[in-house]
Amino acid sequence: MESVVKGFVYLVGAGPGRADLITVRGAEVLKAADCVIYDKLANPALLQFARKDAEIIHVPKRIGKGSVTQDRINELLVEKASEGKTVVRLKGGDPCIFGRIAEELAVLSEAGIDFEIVPGITAGIAMSSYTGILLTDREYSSQVTFVTGREAPDKQESSIDWNLLAKFDGTIVFYMGVGTLSSTARRLIENGRPEDTPAAVIANASLPTQRVVRASLSRISEECERQKIKPPAIVVVGAAAGSDTKLDWFMKKPLFGKSIVVTRDIVGNADFAAKIINRGGNPLTFPTLRIKPLTESDEFLRTLAKFARYDWIIFTSSNGVAVFFEALEGLGKDARAFGSAKVAVIGSKTAAKLSEFGIKADFVPDVFTSEQLGKQLIGFANLQNKKILLLRSQLASNELVDQLAEAGAEVDNIAAYNAVGEKSEYSWLVEGISKGTIDWLTFASPSSVNGFFEQITGEIVNSGKVRVASIGPVTSERLKKLGVKIDITAAEHTIDGLLDAIEECEK
Ligand code: SAH
Repeated sequence: MESVVKGFVYLVGAGPGRADLITVRGAEVLKAADCVIYDKLANPALLQFARKDAEIIHVPKRIGKGSVTQDRINELLVEKASEGKTVVRLKGGDPCIFGRIAEELAVLSEAGIDFEIVPGITAGIAMSSYTGILLTDREYSSQVTFVTGREAPDKQESSIDWNLLAKFDGTIVFYMGVGTLSSTARRLIENGRPEDTPAAVIANASLPTQRVVRASLSRISEECERQKIKPPAIVVVGAAAGSDTKLDWFMKKPLFGKSIVVTRDIVGNADFAAKIINRGGNPLTFPTLRIKPLTESDEFLRTLAKFARYDWIIFTSSNGVAVFFEALEGLGKDARAFGSAKVAVIGSKTAAKLSEFGIKADFVPDVFTSEQLGKQLIGFANLQNKKILLLRSQLASNELVDQLAEAGAEVDNIAAYNAVGEKSEYSWLVEGISKGTIDWLTFASPSSVNGFFEQITGEIVNSGKVRVASIGPVTSERLKKLGVKIDITAAEHTIDGLLDAIEECEK
């Protein structure tokens, strides 16, 4: 008899919005998945955890045009698991809170497919942390209730006991409640809840686009309409909604609400975006280039063969370190290849990348440019007759080579990678710049500048309100050549330095 390999389904809570609010267990099973089926509310940034070869299926919404029905989702779960796959069904917030999980579990158990449920932080809880609206402060509320707001306003038989809810002396948290807010408020008031009961609506909780509206129960609906609040949003009714606004740590972050475009390669953009999120900003990623390793070239392989004879190895970027070690690993070697060679790098980021492979940089200049690396290294060590290897981008200028050669060193300058231009969809960017909804464009290298302005003209950028931030003088030089007006050039030439400069400007 043919044996049937049954797969396994993990129903995973993705958390409320911000990607790193997923649980450790959730991220772990996501990494192992063969197939990921994810919801509209699950942050797509979580897909970075998935394997490169995992099948990714987006099931955007369950109502409206282009929707994927619940039946289809159920079918997909069974279909993929029956192929023997490990499936992760990623659902916004907690899978068991208003997540229609019962239907999915029913089909799985009927089909005899094993499953595990991984909890997530539900939106109603996360919004409390991200606003300081405390659901159970002992001063005013010793109970909380979660209620669905999605009930047709004219539904005859409501499953919600409005009379009881109006009298509920605690915090009421409505999910899916924006569309029905006016009827919700009306029913509560009709059933005896005072008109001046505090209410709050929190949209996009935990995300850089979070918005909070506070008003009395009688006015909250019109206030949300006036401020054009859109789902997903949580509605809070009760004394909690009127609590101290001083506790709001999140929306007070220095870059909160600022839309900042990042223009590096995909990996660099993800790293940059995480830093922007940490400062409360809203990163918009626009990849302008792709890092192409040149580590299969004859020149590179010949260099590697005589690697042990160098006195100094120099990396000028973390990309260089990453592609180098990938090549080394491909050849079955490791950090011991460095032997007694000393290593110099530009930038704390490059040094950190290097240390991931067990090597501590011997020299990092205190200003992160090639020019300063050359100058300071010459002061730090006697380079007379020393053999130096530069592993850099193909585009790097010759200045450093000349500087070191002048100090008496014998320099091999090898291209470890190239940054090749990448085309991305850009209509949203042009629209955002012209509408004034984008606050900053950032450039972290001359290659990003090239990749960006191959697609978008300098006039568009100069004509809008958008400000331009550059990581350092070489990048700024390239921008100037293209006639782009620069608002700031970072004093410290790192991504953190660039963000510090933007923060300073926003003060
Ligand atoms: N399982 C989810 C809820 C799904 S129902 C959870 O546990 O969070 C969808 C509703 O969740 C939305 O209508 C909204 O009320 C709420 N919601 C989800 N994400 C939200 C967010 N980031 N901010 C505010 N509300 C959110």
